[in-house]
Amino acid sequence: MAIPPQPWPTGLCEQLEPLVRRVLAPNGSPFTYTGTQTYLVGTADGVAVIDPGPDLPGHLAALDAAIGEVPVTAILCTHTHRDHSPAAAPLAARTGAPIVGCAPLALVSDEPRADVPFDTAYRADRVLGDGEAVAGPGWTLTAVATPGHTSNHLCYALEESGALFTGDHVMGWSTTVVAPPDGDMAAYMASLDKLHARDDRIYFPAHGPAVRNPRQLVRGMIGHRRQRERQILKLLGSHALAIPELVPLMYKGVDERLWPAAGQSVKAHLLDLERRGLVARSEDLWTTLTNPGLS
Ligand SMILES: [Zn+2]
Repeated sequence: MAIPPQPWPTGLCEQLEPLVRRVLAPNGSPFTYTGTQTYLVGTADGVAVIDPGPDLPGHLAALDAAIGEVPVTAILCTHTHRDHSPAAAPLAARTGAPIVGCAPLALVSDEPRADVPFDTAYRADRVLGDGEAVAGPGWTLTAVATPGHTSNHLCYALEESGALFTGDHVMGWSTTVVAPPDGDMAAYMASLDKLHARDDRIYFPAHGPAVRNPRQLVRGMIGHRRQRERQILKLLGSHALAIPELVPLMYKGVDERLWPAAGQSVKAHLLDLERRGLVARSEDLWTTLTNPGLS
């Protein structure tokens, strides 16, 4: 989870492939890496905009410039975190394009501030289910339901070129934060398995560089999560621990600003392990229920 040595240029429209252009939003941070990448997919006859990003005047101006006179067929969001979807509504107002794709999030939680990372104002003109598509001149984007990072997360497969827009589900620069109550580790793992079973040629994530060895990366991520799980069971095997005690043991060498987010993923693992009957909690302390037989 390193922060890049130099900021990438924001506001420019870069052609990545014949059907794919990118505009980087000026919202770099330890959580968004160099910022949110908004993708323009299609041709001069019509484009889709994937993850319009934060509602920042400079970013919308850059999108205006990149779009020019090209008709916008659809605006798609992978999910409704605040760094992905807030520019959808102003972009729809400017272009007349419908907002198509992920569902608004119905967050059922009474945990304090649980909805803070979410764009609760997001509305869709058409929600895409798994396998449903939106098409324009020379391109077809098919939704691949990938819950886990959020419950409403979709990836989009560009059928004509074998590219997959992975949002925050799989990124090359960092593992994904899975933050309960909406984030769900079991769902996330199932969504990794789902991508591993596909044969996409390249991933374009919302943050960080394109991934040219997708299945290898996904296989590595599945292994990484299993290793984290074993690590938690092993640490709890010696004594009961609270999440703030687990994080420094598990994330040595990681930027401490990311520890609270790491704690969310640890919590997601613990809730998953609890559901599977492998750990239990008493107040804030977690213990193992079975000896996992690990060395
Ligand atoms: Zn996100």
